[in-house]
Amino acid sequence: MQNRADDLPRRRRLPAVLAGLGFLAILAIALVGAAGRIRSVPSEPAAAVAWAEPAQAPAAGSGPAAAPARFTTVAVRLQKNQTLNQALFSLRLAAAEVNEVVEALRGHFPFRKARPGDQLRLERTEDGDLHRFTYRQGAADEWVVERLPDGTFEGAKRPVELTTEVARVAVTIESSLYESLGRADEDPGLAVLAADVLAWDVDFYQDVRTGDRMRILVEKIYADGKLLRYGEVLAAEYDGAATGRKRLFRYTDASGHTSYFDDEGNSARRGFLKSPLKYAHVTSSFGMRRHPVLGYTRAHEGVDYGAPTGTPIWAVGDGSVREAGWKGACGKAVIVKHRNGLDTIYCHLSRIAVSAGKSVSQKQIIGYVGSTGRSTGPHLHYAVKRGGRYVNPMQLKIPRDAPLPASALVDFREKIAPLREQLAGPVALN
Ligand SMILES: [Zn+2]
Repeated sequence: MQNRADDLPRRRRLPAVLAGLGFLAILAIALVGAAGRIRSVPSEPAAAVAWAEPAQAPAAGSGPAAAPARFTTVAVRLQKNQTLNQALFSLRLAAAEVNEVVEALRGHFPFRKARPGDQLRLERTEDGDLHRFTYRQGAADEWVVERLPDGTFEGAKRPVELTTEVARVAVTIESSLYESLGRADEDPGLAVLAADVLAWDVDFYQDVRTGDRMRILVEKIYADGKLLRYGEVLAAEYDGAATGRKRLFRYTDASGHTSYFDDEGNSARRGFLKSPLKYAHVTSSFGMRRHPVLGYTRAHEGVDYGAPTGTPIWAVGDGSVREAGWKGACGKAVIVKHRNGLDTIYCHLSRIAVSAGKSVSQKQIIGYVGSTGRSTGPHLHYAVKRGGRYVNPMQLKIPRDAPLPASALVDFREKIAPLREQLAGPVALN
């Protein structure tokens, strides 16, 4: 394992380890909770859903007969085309109780925003009285209806405290960015976020080499102390054998525009992305091991990217769709005409997501990898033409967007200084 261990001291690694343990603890509680419910409603085990909330688990240590406040819990998920009322009936609420719950939610809960998969949970006292109803949507939205001492019901949206933390993630790549992040106890989805930021400089399908290093400063958003999702990538650095060192910082200028810039204030953006493939969730290192990217050859007139069927293909730059459809040996194909005089050609798609004549913007998904036409396996054949002649896509020199104006540089340097320091990590190790 060659991830954060080599450039992070123990002190800095600890929070990540704790976060990992915390996640396991939540998982354990969810499993215990689910098991408890299955026991309490043996007739409906399929309806039980995991509900990660320690406070609601049966109190440990109290004997089954001794605890006066024991509740029976049933939980279901809202089904497709099911109304809230129907879901409430499926929880075996009486018609009068359904009315009470719905009335208590009125004014608090946006009924039209109920979605399949939302979690409903009902607690009854040992006497069978309705005690509490909880409706949860995602990790951060929860509504609760509770019985008041006078027997009436009160509904409210439970305030969920969201906190944001900036985390530093550092990995050394062994086989793929995904696997490296997984080993660092991060959600591999972080690879997609980082690849998106670096998309003008690094082709994550062909530039990645074993031993390359990546550092990311990313916001982690917690709901009630549990990791909800990643926020913005504040800084990203890729130091690779094929790419050299690329380092970018997120910056919002005085007029409110946000983009990524290098240390000198040069824009990360260019007219073309480095890769025609959007970095996506690929479980194996498919592209690296079995289907290496073949270099450009004049006879072949393009570059082949081995990638699983369904891998998203994005327009490398703004333009308009010249052709979209079947094109002989090229199979299902898209040709995009760009303002810089270049045409980009994408072949063998399994599915086309644009139509001829429409304009497309950079990073817009235009189709998905397939094996249509003259092709022996799923791959993208990518070619570029200038004035009707094929040119090598790997040797294109596409200029960057305008740098920050001199007037913004003082503010820019001030803002990125702490990010640069945090990204670099502990000085003692460098
Ligand atoms: Zn090809």
